[in-house]
Amino acid sequence: MRITEIYQSIQGESSFTGLPCVFVRTTGCDLRCEWCDSEFTFSGGTTMTLDQIMDHVAGYDCNLVELTGGEPLLQPEIYDLTRRLCDAGHTVLVETGGHRDVSSLDPRAIMIMDLKCPDSGECEKNLWSNLAHLRAVDEVKFVLASRADYEWARSIIREHRLEDMVNVLISTAYGLLSPRVAVEWMLEDKLRARFQLQAHKYIWGPDTRAV
Ligand code: SF4
Repeated sequence: MRITEIYQSIQGESSFTGLPCVFVRTTGCDLRCEWCDSEFTFSGGTTMTLDQIMDHVAGYDCNLVELTGGEPLLQPEIYDLTRRLCDAGHTVLVETGGHRDVSSLDPRAIMIMDLKCPDSGECEKNLWSNLAHLRAVDEVKFVLASRADYEWARSIIREHRLEDMVNVLISTAYGLLSPRVAVEWMLEDKLRARFQLQAHKYIWGPDTRAV
């Protein structure tokens, strides 16, 4: 597999925020979100075998592992890697853009599906058939850059009854929309979603790499 980096940090997003986590960041993404802060994953990286990745992860002695990118589902070996990490007893989070088919992922993994809002410029790539594969343990995330993004996310959440299906996460694109404003909108609409800040940016600074 092409791997940009493997490192341990705390989980900066999702319901697992604040927990120690090993991040396996794959190289390559087939989207180009307007506000992307992970362009460094688009190229380069190192070729690693699954055994090498497993050994590297094992060295951290950390239960929680997140597969992220880039877009991890671009690489066919990701399915075997997910299975092997689950077999080894890890809690595995798979962060995906929501535009790649998730139906072959090991069901023991927890999906964090980042549905792309209109201001990302990639909204039309969302693969709606993926919603049929979501379970109660999975999480659907919306990154908002504007009121239009919020209204779009709210309509998708309500239309697909996501509040009753999964953990819904709302965050704002860093520097583009005030978290306070987004929270006020959520409260006004009684949206049953978790607002999240990117904790790593507050701990280590705004230029810290996304998770
Ligand atoms: S899916 Fe993630 S890595 Fe890919 S362009 Fe969008 S924000 Fe960047």
